[in-house]
Amino acid sequence: MHKRLYFCLVLIVFLASLTTSVLWAQEDCQVNQFRQLYQELPTPNSYRTASGAPGPQYWQQRADYDMSVELDENKQRLYGVETITYFNNSPDALTYLWLQLDQNIRARDAVSNIARSGGISNPVEFRFLERIHSDFDGGFKIEYVKDRDDRALPFTVVDTMMRVDLPQVLSPNSHYSFKIKWWYNINDKSKIGGRSGFDYYKKDGNHVFAIAQFFPRMAVYDETEGWQHKQFLGSGEFALPFGNYRVSITVPSDHILGATGILQNADEVLTSQQKTRLEEARQSSADTVCIVTEDEAKQNEGKRADTKKTWIFEAGDVRDFAFASSRKFIWDAMAVKFGKRIVLAMSFYPKEGNPLWEKYSTKAVAHAIKVYSKFTFDYPYPKAISVLVGRGGGMEYPMIAFNGGKPEPDGTYPERLKYSLIGVVIHEFGHNFFPMIVNSDERQWAWMDEGLNTFLEYLAEQEWEREFAERNGPAYTMVNYMKGSKTYMSPIMTAPDADLHVGSNAYAKTAAGLNILRETIMGRELFDFAFKEYARRWKFKHPMPADFFRSLEDASGMDLDWFWRGWFFGTDHVDLAIDNVKWYKINTMEPELAKAIEYEKKNRNRKQYISNIRNKKDIEKTAVEKDQSLADFYDEYDPLEVTPLDEEQYRKYLDSLSEEEKQLLQAGYNYYEVSLSNKGGMVMPVILRFDYADGSEEVKRIPAELWRRYNDSVQKIFTTKKEVRRITLDPFLETADVDTRNNRWVLQETPDYFEVKKDEEPSEENLMQKVRNMGGETKN
Ligand SMILES: [Zn+2]
Repeated sequence: MHKRLYFCLVLIVFLASLTTSVLWAQEDCQVNQFRQLYQELPTPNSYRTASGAPGPQYWQQRADYDMSVELDENKQRLYGVETITYFNNSPDALTYLWLQLDQNIRARDAVSNIARSGGISNPVEFRFLERIHSDFDGGFKIEYVKDRDDRALPFTVVDTMMRVDLPQVLSPNSHYSFKIKWWYNINDKSKIGGRSGFDYYKKDGNHVFAIAQFFPRMAVYDETEGWQHKQFLGSGEFALPFGNYRVSITVPSDHILGATGILQNADEVLTSQQKTRLEEARQSSADTVCIVTEDEAKQNEGKRADTKKTWIFEAGDVRDFAFASSRKFIWDAMAVKFGKRIVLAMSFYPKEGNPLWEKYSTKAVAHAIKVYSKFTFDYPYPKAISVLVGRGGGMEYPMIAFNGGKPEPDGTYPERLKYSLIGVVIHEFGHNFFPMIVNSDERQWAWMDEGLNTFLEYLAEQEWEREFAERNGPAYTMVNYMKGSKTYMSPIMTAPDADLHVGSNAYAKTAAGLNILRETIMGRELFDFAFKEYARRWKFKHPMPADFFRSLEDASGMDLDWFWRGWFFGTDHVDLAIDNVKWYKINTMEPELAKAIEYEKKNRNRKQYISNIRNKKDIEKTAVEKDQSLADFYDEYDPLEVTPLDEEQYRKYLDSLSEEEKQLLQAGYNYYEVSLSNKGGMVMPVILRFDYADGSEEVKRIPAELWRRYNDSVQKIFTTKKEVRRITLDPFLETADVDTRNNRWVLQETPDYFEVKKDEEPSEENLMQKVRNMGGETKN
């Protein structure tokens, strides 16, 4: 389906007089890019409608969690016990439940470990060897799974998934509570990597814990996939149902802790000074206020408390929970206002993050919330946290994101680090919108969160600073990837664990595609309206790809199937070319002009030939030149001279024309016939800049529907009274055209002419054909 040309099998049956023979033949046929996506998209139904909105029977499951966990800093372990209440809102009776055991990706016998491919590229880093030799004992140690009455429930661990068998079926519209107790060893992020774990600071012997995927989490059950229990192999992230959380977290009493949800026991865990400063922060929307200052954090990291503290958080309507804890944390905050509602943007970071973090982290979070809200819906949660963990990159959770990037020990930092940190903070926090609230299935469709988020990240970066050194977003950033070998290139619509180029596809190509839609295909007004409508329809729900595609078409009134087909379902690149441009003017039939054109047409080749031949030199004198008596009327005659007969003919021609026809004839238009071809396979709008002889310029934009009948080559006529000197295709590099050398055309010096004759009365059939050829509407 992704190749522009594929082989159609044509069964040709020949019936001969005596024998019947069957021939199979292969024939090239073009798959029109504008064919509708009926084969690629699921049939709409009462759960998900043809308009892309949730249908009247749409349902989704819910899982509430009540849990207590304890962090053992000395052993770097996490212990937990949880009660999950699972609400079956589906019309199906369930006999078992599936949970995700994401920590198992670090178990010694994890499929992702055993099935890891790759060789040795000389030289290797020590980090590489450490990973190969690692005997880290990761993975959940499940102590029990019990029902509410403490009766053991049978469970089966399948790599990173766990099936819990129910004592009786869980019927529709009922719920079930059960308990799980577990513990696991926390990984060192710098050695083993991972989306969560700890950073160890050798100098002061402290840890920064960034804890996530730390509890057995319910898998999603829906009408599209059934249970989404594709294994966690590392690239495909998570699919999680919404629910309400109550989480008690016990940590050393000198730790400062940030988490998803609202703190329930501030009086027990915060000092009165910290509470006062938090109140100050709620009043401060221009600048950050330190809840824990750098000096205080430095004092904290020099001591060790041997007591514990329990922080209690509650969060409603979240799909996950994460927290960060350390005695090294500086904590700052500021207010972001949504009408009367205040959201607290905050950061938690060790002193090693400064001076970058105190300057940018919280403000980048506040900026992200505001810009993303503008393009989607108001950020609905009460807080928004950025935590410094790791060397680069980041990871997102509801209300909290872990972000990497810190300056050199002397406090200096390269320009690129500044922009990548601001970009990462915007990106990771931006994930709150996609997929934390518009809750798509990350395991299967990375582009639905990464791509949409990278696109909004780009918009937010543009609003941060005009010359922001963005990483992804504009179409031109895709050119190198798109013109590369197609051998290992997959369409965006590929599950991330099977895609060699997740970064290029799910992030960059999706973001660039949305930019092309916004800037070039739909226009900002239509795109923004449709994108917002998609976000509004699916916030706190689980959208699928078709819901996105359909919503954008439904709200904008545009048929974008050709774009989804080419950009999302295919790997064709964009390479449009100007093959030829011809300049015409009308032959008005004025005798001087008409004769000159006629003469020129007859003699153009001959004149050109004669001008070159050596005869001029070699033949000293011709016979006629030697003997004047050989000359007659035709040697004297000026073929360009206008005769009374010519005048008469011209008058007759004019008399046959109406006033309007005469005006059109003499208006002095230039006609430019532009021949374009599609060499890459992916059709796109045609953007042409005309540079005129008078020094002015004009940009004309033709929608991609120009290619709807002939996907590989088209001609188009442009008329103007000005003379064109040069035409440039895609002058602003909007379409990711991989070869711009064939995007320019310098015009011929003189025009060609065409004649105009009176309209003939066509037959009905001819008329229909003509109208069709002109691409217009036909009756019937
Ligand atoms: Zn991301």
